[in-house]
Amino acid sequence: MMAKGREMAFGRLLVAAVLALAAVFFLSVQVSQAASTTKIVIDDREVTDARDVLTVKGTTMVPIRVISEELGYPVGWNSGSRQVTVGASSDQVTLTLGSRSAISGAGTVTLEQAPFLQANTTYVPLRFVSTEMGLKVKWDNKVKTVYLQSPLPLEAPRPSVPNDNGSQPAPGGMPNTAALVEQVSFSENRLMIGLSGSVTPKVSAIGSPNRIVIDLPDTSFSPVFAEGQGLLIGQQGSIAAQGSADVSGIRFALNNDSPMRVRIVIDLNKAKNYETYREGNLFFIDLNKAGGTSTPGVGDNGKRIVVIDPGHGGEKPGAIYTGGPTLKEKDVNLDMALKVEALLKQVEGLDVVMTRSDDTDVSLQGRVDIAESLDADIMVSIHANSMPRGTKPTSGTETLYTKPESKTLAETIHKHVIQATGLPDRRAKYQNLYIDRRSNLPTALVETGFLYAGGDVEKITDPAWQNRVAAAIVAGIREYLDL
Ligand SMILES: [Zn+2]
Repeated sequence: MMAKGREMAFGRLLVAAVLALAAVFFLSVQVSQAASTTKIVIDDREVTDARDVLTVKGTTMVPIRVISEELGYPVGWNSGSRQVTVGASSDQVTLTLGSRSAISGAGTVTLEQAPFLQANTTYVPLRFVSTEMGLKVKWDNKVKTVYLQSPLPLEAPRPSVPNDNGSQPAPGGMPNTAALVEQVSFSENRLMIGLSGSVTPKVSAIGSPNRIVIDLPDTSFSPVFAEGQGLLIGQQGSIAAQGSADVSGIRFALNNDSPMRVRIVIDLNKAKNYETYREGNLFFIDLNKAGGTSTPGVGDNGKRIVVIDPGHGGEKPGAIYTGGPTLKEKDVNLDMALKVEALLKQVEGLDVVMTRSDDTDVSLQGRVDIAESLDADIMVSIHANSMPRGTKPTSGTETLYTKPESKTLAETIHKHVIQATGLPDRRAKYQNLYIDRRSNLPTALVETGFLYAGGDVEKITDPAWQNRVAAAIVAGIREYLDL
């Protein structure tokens, strides 16, 4: 009886294994045929490159990372049940790998395509998740672009970063700790740990072999970080220490203590002094400081640092106006930004740095990195506005921010800019923006006007208007910095 039972169980297991293998094979075949050039635009920003998007039988599938990082929704992963959750616990959708059944606020729904795992990345159906999260979704087949528009909150900004306060229960079975590691990076001989929540890192230097150990008590990895690294509890991840003569590698692991503890180790080639400091949510272990390496010239002598960020660039044109001679937003933005730069250069006590000064693209994270590596005071992004296709043309000027710390900057700039544009006042207001959400300095994004037939093209192309608006942006910056 026992033996027979075991045999049957083994038989069932075998069948299950074969089915699972078949499913993996089937999926990989499907996916390999689905090279996609689909683009995703969220609120005027193109957020993905083609490699991020897969089309499976007409359904757009995106890495769960896009949902959490670009849309800003909390994402959880439960490896036991192979389930992905999206959204705050009160308003959540649950998807299961390999299953077309999903659970939303409305109950159980059937998906066009099941979520799947490929190359350690979980792909979920974009339209379903976006619609469930309250975004408007439009698909333009001509330009193979998905346009997503987030609902604009009326009053207070909603929390946009998953788990940015440690008291919030982590969804999807992630350990609930006081703090999360969002990011670990190493550049310029400096380790940077992006944290959310509250934690005091404990740093110690250990010899033979030489290493620096950073312990983060009551801390775990954010779901995004863990997924990006393919990390589970007890497993060890690592990043390369590029360009460093002092560091051979960086390792990190989530130790299953009670409470959980993250340990990060910098493996050194030789004994090395270091300095630690904190900037907002970033914790740095700097191997330069003690070595007396010269600091960059930017911001010397106590000068304030302003980063000007012309939106889009290179392969990413932003909005395109075709009602007359073609106008690309990336060029309009750059023209305006260069005018702002020229005016800022005349201001004493201030250094200005551009995220781009020609027709090249810089990733959104790259723009954040520039501002943060300079320890800039503020960053101002310059854009021209657009609406999803099929929407009635609109006119007006707005200045956007995401973090509460950026509100005053946005309002101060907007107060000046709205006078200069002479366009309808769409106000300084919250919008879910990657650059502001993911940066540790106040940033604001000026949408000068709408690049639209029936929008504000006549003004946007008028040099006198451009000069006036550039001067207004500068006036706002000077007022904010008291310069
Ligand atoms: Zn734009």
